[in-house]
Order: sequence, then C-alpha cells, then structure tokens
Amino acid sequence: DHRDLHLSLRRQRQMCIRDRSTLVLKFGGTSVASTKLIESAAKIVKSEYDKNNNIIVVVSAMSGTTNSLIDHVNSIDFNDDSEYDLVVSSGEQITAGLMSLALKKLNVPARSWLGWQIPIITRGQHRNAFIDKIVPDGIVNDFKEKKVAVVAGFQGISSEERITTIGRGGSDNTAVFLAAAVAAERCDIYTDVDGVYTSDPKMTDKVRRLDKISYEEMIEMASQGAKVLQTTSVESAMNHDVNVNVRSTFNPSDEGTQISNDVSNETRAVTGVAYSKDEAKITIIDVEDKPGVAAEIFKELASSSVNVDMIVQNNFIERKMTNITFTVPMTDLKKSLGVLEELKKRIVFSKVLDEQNLSKVSIIGSGMRNQPGIAAKMFDCLSNNNINIEVISTSEIKISVLIDRNKTEAAVNALHSVFNLDKI
Ligand code: ASP
Ligand code: MG
Repeated sequence: DHRDLHLSLRRQRQMCIRDRSTLVLKFGGTSVASTKLIESAAKIVKSEYDKNNNIIVVVSAMSGTTNSLIDHVNSIDFNDDSEYDLVVSSGEQITAGLMSLALKKLNVPARSWLGWQIPIITRGQHRNAFIDKIVPDGIVNDFKEKKVAVVAGFQGISSEERITTIGRGGSDNTAVFLAAAVAAERCDIYTDVDGVYTSDPKMTDKVRRLDKISYEEMIEMASQGAKVLQTTSVESAMNHDVNVNVRSTFNPSDEGTQISNDVSNETRAVTGVAYSKDEAKITIIDVEDKPGVAAEIFKELASSSVNVDMIVQNNFIERKMTNITFTVPMTDLKKSLGVLEELKKRIVFSKVLDEQNLSKVSIIGSGMRNQPGIAAKMFDCLSNNNINIEVISTSEIKISVLIDRNKTEAAVNALHSVFNLDKI
C-alpha cells in the first residue's frame, strides 16, 4: 500500500546516499533579515556540512519583505492571484541567492533553486496552493558533488506552469516536504526563539521551553494561535514521518524542541496554552428549525472561503426555532455578514448579531485523553478569575473557550498555573 511504497522509497534513497545523511535546514525571515545575518546563518550551515551531511537549505524572505510586496500588489488594486503570486514569491528569490553566495564565500559549494527549477509542483488555488509533488533528482544529483542546495521557500509551480505560493508562513512546509522527498534524517527550523514554549512568552513570563512535543499537540498549538510553526507544515511532518526540530539561529548549539511521535511524557494532562485575539462571533437569531438549514448556511460560508471555527446551536423545541452561533477570524467577519445578508432571501431567521472584542484561549495536551475532569478544572479556574465563557469547543486533545479580549492575559496566566506549566 501507500505506506509500504513510501518506506521502500525511503530505503532506496538511503542506499544511494549511504555514506552521508541528509539534513534540511530552514531559516525564517528574522534569521535572514540582513546580509550580515545571512552570513552568520551560512556559518551554521557550514558547521553541519562539515560533519559530512548532505544539506538542503530552505530560506524565507527577509522579514517584512513579503508584507511590503503584498502592499505593492494591493496598491494597484486589480485582482489577479497569479500575478500576486509572481510578485509575492520574489522575496525568497533574493535570500536564496544571497545565502548561496554567503556559502560559496565560506568555500562551501552551493547552488540556489527556485521552486519551478526543482520542480515543486503544486495544485489548488493561487495564494494558497498545496504542494503536490517534489522531484528532488537535481538536488540529489548535486549531493554527489557535495553541493548544498539552497531552496527558495514558499513557492512552487502549477500544472499550468504559473508560479504559485503556498500560504503565509509556507516556507516551513517547503522544508518539511523536501525533507520527506529526500528522506532526510531531520528538518531543523531555525527561528528567533529557541523552541516551542508552554505558552506565548509575551503573555506570561512563567513559560517553559518544551524539549519535546508530539505532532498532534503541535498541530493544535499552531492552529490555536502559536506562531512558531505553520500548521500545515506540522500536518505534513506527521503524514510523512519527518523529524522536526525548532531551534534558535542565535543560539545554534541548543537543540531546541523536538517534534515527533515519540513523546514519553504522558503524565501531564496539559502541554500548552494558546490563544488567538482576532476572533469574531456571529449569532443568527430565530432560525427556522428544520433539516438542511444549518447545512445551507455553512455551505454558503464555505463557498465564500470563510473559515468557520466554533459552532453552537440552541434549539427552542416548543417554538421550532433555533439560534446558531459561530466564530470566524476577524478578517472574515465582513464577508460572513455579506453571505448571511444574501441568505436572508432564502432562509427564515429574524436577525444577525455580531460581536468583535473576543479572544479564544485553548488548553492543549494529549494527556487529557486519559485524565478526566480537565474541562471542569479549566472552567472552574476561569470562573475563579471572574472570566465569563461565551462559547466552548473541544477536540480529543484540546479545549477552547471564547472570552472577552481584555481578559486574555489573565486567562492565559491562570490556566498556565492551574495546569502546572509554570516555571519553578
Ligand atoms: N515569506 C513568506 C511569508 O512571510 C513565507 C514564509 O516566510 O514562510 O509568509
Ligand atoms: Mg514563519
């Protein structure tokens, strides 16, 4: 089956490059923010290269560059996503070339690769394309000459041969996919912090660095607001069994946080507390209570690419009415209200309310699978701190609550303490 194929491919590749292992080293925007920083990142690459490894370097654009490229596109104010991708992908071309130059200066043979040259083939929509396939033959061929491959992150090529980008923060995913394609020993994500923390250090000074975290916990942390890794990249790492380490460019001797399946510390119920401050809540009042209505509403929202998160429905059985509440990112609020305005022509409801100053705070941990009472403990803690819960949602390893945005810091701190995450 698929998995066997994957494993035999992996074995095959390992045989070709038997004497050397392969590492993927990814540097984020703050690690390549100037030529000076690129030259010091190149020294990290050289030190791994000197240990007899095959190396693929993946770079982000210099920090701030992608945003300013997006501003340029927006200032012309004409919508064409394929040209957006051409412009916005260009920041990574610059850093790939500069990194390759910096390596050559250190006497490390290197060449730069743009997504289409490898190629990294994508499918799906521009701006948010998916990596479909990577054909790493050219890169692997260069390994015979001990040449480092420097790859521009975030970009690919569509089947129509247009340049694509793979979503904000996508260079992480470029790195993980390349690691899978060459069966790399590990994928090191170099960034401006030395790993994954129990929560955001900006919110509480009691955070602890985690030495290990599981893929599924990391996926929840990232999707609930932790900005250290792009969520999709962790999903790819889990699907392809890629060992990922998050480590600091400014302190490279530290091993950082290891993300993998192997997490021995199952005694803790909660591993981390995440939050996101850009939540909006929409309530549709007195919706006709009959089959198909919710389907209709959420189908319309989905086809307008609105990202619905939490959903609650309250039925008033005696009145044959229901209220439907859901949350969307702030950026999707206007669009959602537009969709509901249109729907009013087709389905019966009395009105739509929206509320903006909200945050979502989540506790995450695979340990909660085996420990009862975690939700009760969380709600109790919030109530002791006078924090009102508006909406709740859960998964097997996560509980999220929607609260007043002004209480975010208080909630994060209180939960961090009550679940024994504080630094001692
Ligand atoms: N430069 C792109 C962005 O800012 C991709 C990345 O850095 O991962 O979103
Ligand atoms: Mg990033």
